[in-house]
Amino acid sequence: MTEFIIFLFLGLFLLDWTLETGLAGLNLAHTLAGSDTPPAPLRGAMDEQTVRKSRAYTVARLRFGLLRGVAGAGYLLLLLFSGVLPWLETLLRSWQFTGPHLFVAYLALLALLSALLGLPFALYSTFRIEAAFGFNRMGIGLWLLDRIKGLLLAGLLGVPFLYGVYLFMESSGRWWWLWLFLFIALVQMVLVWLYPAFIAPLFNKFTPLPEGEPRRRMEEMARRARFRMAGIFTMDASRRSGHSNAYFTGLLRPRIVLFDTMLDEMSMEESLSVLAHEIGHYREHHIHKGLALNLAGTLFMLWVLNLLVDWPPLFEAFGFAGPSHHAALTLVLAMGGPFTFYLEPLLAWISRRHEYQADAFSLALLGMPGALKSALIRLNGQNLANLRPHPWYAAYHYSHPTLLQRLAAIDRLAAQGQARRVQA
Ligand SMILES: [Zn+2]
Repeated sequence: MTEFIIFLFLGLFLLDWTLETGLAGLNLAHTLAGSDTPPAPLRGAMDEQTVRKSRAYTVARLRFGLLRGVAGAGYLLLLLFSGVLPWLETLLRSWQFTGPHLFVAYLALLALLSALLGLPFALYSTFRIEAAFGFNRMGIGLWLLDRIKGLLLAGLLGVPFLYGVYLFMESSGRWWWLWLFLFIALVQMVLVWLYPAFIAPLFNKFTPLPEGEPRRRMEEMARRARFRMAGIFTMDASRRSGHSNAYFTGLLRPRIVLFDTMLDEMSMEESLSVLAHEIGHYREHHIHKGLALNLAGTLFMLWVLNLLVDWPPLFEAFGFAGPSHHAALTLVLAMGGPFTFYLEPLLAWISRRHEYQADAFSLALLGMPGALKSALIRLNGQNLANLRPHPWYAAYHYSHPTLLQRLAAIDRLAAQGQARRVQA
């Protein structure tokens, strides 16, 4: 049985890795062979230099992703098959760790190890790739401070959370995985509530949009969309990066956050249409659907954990003396990728549908297709997003439709709107 488990995992792992690398390689070749001429709908709206830069940026990120994929696969195989997992358990036991303390120390040390292994990649990404394309605005000091704050925060929230997980696994009876699920869902809600007011401000400054024409028009639009919010804020995103975006956080009365990088570059009409798109996500319940999907995934993972937690062959296969909560959780989390990989295109498809719906909401609310289009073109140029990804890669990984797809959809909707007005 232990051999079967190892071969099943290795087989699925190899399949997942080959598919993923193949898709990225396909997209890389496609982008390298692409042209710098702006596609027809963008003539006059985007210059050749921006297209060339966005291709180069895509190539750099894809190559980096391939390298990280090889390293990640190597790390995972080493972790599972070098004997380091059972060795860590023996080590902690020899230091008198038992019960909940063993559980928490084991998982916290592994999380720390994986964070450390990721550091060189994060460094390279920020100070080589992002810097080469003019995005990075951080010095090493701020970068290090971010990491330290992140680590402290993870410890402060993560350690009590892990004690909670152990408690539910150990002492809530036969249906422990359902109780644990309720606990995790509750923690998630609390984090969503804590995030805008307590966590995000540790990293960025949020300033309410000053009184004046832009704020008045944005608030007026939010009222018209019957969107109850806790305010519009600008975030000093330009301290770290030149990437530009807008988002909102919170569950019941969300606050809207606009990157200062975006506000500086956009006209009033363009900002309004982006904001209307964001409100669209909320009014069409995309946030709640996303959260529900996420919770369904957690529930499924816990059910699998419940099936495997006392199954000796799994632990034998990876060199453990016997079943334990910490080993079960580690193995399920470490081995999950090759099993869940096939869900990615479905999730990406759902997300792309939501983007189309939010664009449609913006159009219906404001009736300004021109402004929405020019805002999207501007955002695409600012972020150097790939204009012509390989369609298979895009279907698998793209959470947003490409710029050209979105522009075409906006044109279709605008034409339908025109037709309806003519008929009436
Ligand atoms: Zn969106």
